[in-house]
Amino acid sequence: MGYNDWIWKSVCPNCGETWTWSKKSPPVDGSGTWTCSTCKQKNRRSGLPKWPDVPKMLYLGHDKRSLLQVWSAPPDRSTHDWALPYSTRSFVFQASRNQGGCLYEPERRGKVMDDTVFSDYCLEPDVLYYSDTPRPRCHMFAGWSMGEESCPLWEKLSNLCQTDAEKKFLHWYFGFARDRTFPALLPQARIGIAERRRPDFALFVPLSYWKYKWYAIQLDGAHRGLQEQDALRDTEISIHGYEVVSLRPESKGYYDEVKKLVERIEFDMEQANSDRWQVAIEVESEKRWPSNDSDQT
Ligand SMILES: [Zn+2]
Ligand SMILES: [Zn+2]
Repeated sequence: MGYNDWIWKSVCPNCGETWTWSKKSPPVDGSGTWTCSTCKQKNRRSGLPKWPDVPKMLYLGHDKRSLLQVWSAPPDRSTHDWALPYSTRSFVFQASRNQGGCLYEPERRGKVMDDTVFSDYCLEPDVLYYSDTPRPRCHMFAGWSMGEESCPLWEKLSNLCQTDAEKKFLHWYFGFARDRTFPALLPQARIGIAERRRPDFALFVPLSYWKYKWYAIQLDGAHRGLQEQDALRDTEISIHGYEVVSLRPESKGYYDEVKKLVERIEFDMEQANSDRWQVAIEVESEKRWPSNDSDQT
């Protein structure tokens, strides 16, 4: 599923064969010693990276006077298993604590077929909830399926967007993402230290625990004659490591584009299952000393 796939590969320094390892839980670093099945050489790999390759923190919002600072995971909840880097839960939790509205609270329910299942609640700040009364579910994480298209938190959060088209895009996105463990669409993310560029949305899709695909989503509207400016903008953004996805509205607005984007994300996140080699990070290995018998050949 991407977030919880620890995958790496290493080349045997003796025979040149590449080997891939894949784990569903954090590998215990230990000695990192391995034996090549082809040439029987004993090797030692260098350490594995500590963190995923995402920015530690970003500022979001089109209005400089009311920016939202988001960390890849909420600092005070970073050990919770829903607090995945720039996931919808990590993002909405921080937005809720910073901007007010409803008090968003995710809760771990258990596991189904190896996947952890969560419930998402939207509490009213001054209400006491007793254990025997059901708590209100968050409308955003219910994908707007409870007959309401808004809530106080959504009102605040959507104001990070600059245009109505962006708000609508984000609204549809929550509708598709629902209570899945999914990457957040981060509105008006300020990129680079000088913050000169601000794509409509940034998106960090986990291919594996360490390896993320960085997307910058641009809603380009129907304007013409600005292609040159757009190209320059896209180049500047891609220098920072983002793949720029420029979208133009179809007859139904951006609805179909949101759908395609969600499918693309799902495809990326599934890649760990279908093509481990592609998503593995590369780790160096050296022959272990003292060497074993096969060195005599
Ligand atoms: Zn070998
Ligand atoms: Zn709410």
